[in-house]
Amino acid sequence: MAEPLLATRGLTKSFGAVTASEDVSIDLRPGEIHAVIGPNGAGKSTLIRQICGGLTPDRGTVTLLGRDVTRMGTVDRARAGLGRTFQISSLAMEDSVLENAVLGALGAGGTPWRFWRPALASADLCARAEEALEKVGLADHRHTRCGDLSHGQRRQLEVAVALTLRPKVFVMDEPMAGLGAEGSARMTRFLDGLRAEAPILLVEHDMDAVFALADRISVLVYGRIIATGPQEEIRASRAVREAYLGE
Ligand code: ADP
Ligand code: MG
Repeated sequence: MAEPLLATRGLTKSFGAVTASEDVSIDLRPGEIHAVIGPNGAGKSTLIRQICGGLTPDRGTVTLLGRDVTRMGTVDRARAGLGRTFQISSLAMEDSVLENAVLGALGAGGTPWRFWRPALASADLCARAEEALEKVGLADHRHTRCGDLSHGQRRQLEVAVALTLRPKVFVMDEPMAGLGAEGSARMTRFLDGLRAEAPILLVEHDMDAVFALADRISVLVYGRIIATGPQEEIRASRAVREAYLGE
């Protein structure tokens, strides 16, 4: 079997009396979309934050492309090949689509554009930004102010910002959140194509999207993974249906 590009082993994290992650081991293999599902408060975002470096686990490890990154910060993990999108937008609303993408290529997301304008002179950064906008279908909107984009377009732009660093793996926390049916369908088609570029660890509530995309599914309940396996197996599992799907 192919080596996982991303792996956690025994991740454990408590907040006071709440154990938000308990012994969580999960793998992301080349070419796959691995969905993590579970009720509100199950610990999905906590898991993502430990993988991305925003939160240090009490115990356990995170391995990226064979390298132990458990103690590495978010910026270094991004440079090491980890692409992520946020549950909450990190875009600069006053700046243009292209400017936001160039900021992404700089690894400087969230910094007001005026501090970085000289970077526009860098042909390489611009080329990466243009390439990413092309991929998400926003090239024609490159000079649009980010604040004037629709919600769906902003989510596409967030993916473009992540793409500018040419990640080897993707981690996404609810990319469908707030998108209507049409926006979700468009994002679903897009993510389906993206898996050829980099596998995706996908936290998502929208079960239509999960069932359309996921090769494998892990079910998180009260901080523990209660089941992990191919989509068909998880959908057929009585334990999962009782614990999560509410049947
Ligand atoms: P999910 O993303 O699955 O909805 P979270 O990972 O956000 O769940 O939260 C898991 C549990 O950990 C919840 O009980 C939540 O209240 C708690 N939690 C998450 N972050 C913190 C924090 N920074 N401080 C205290 N409790 C937290
Ligand atoms: Mg969450």
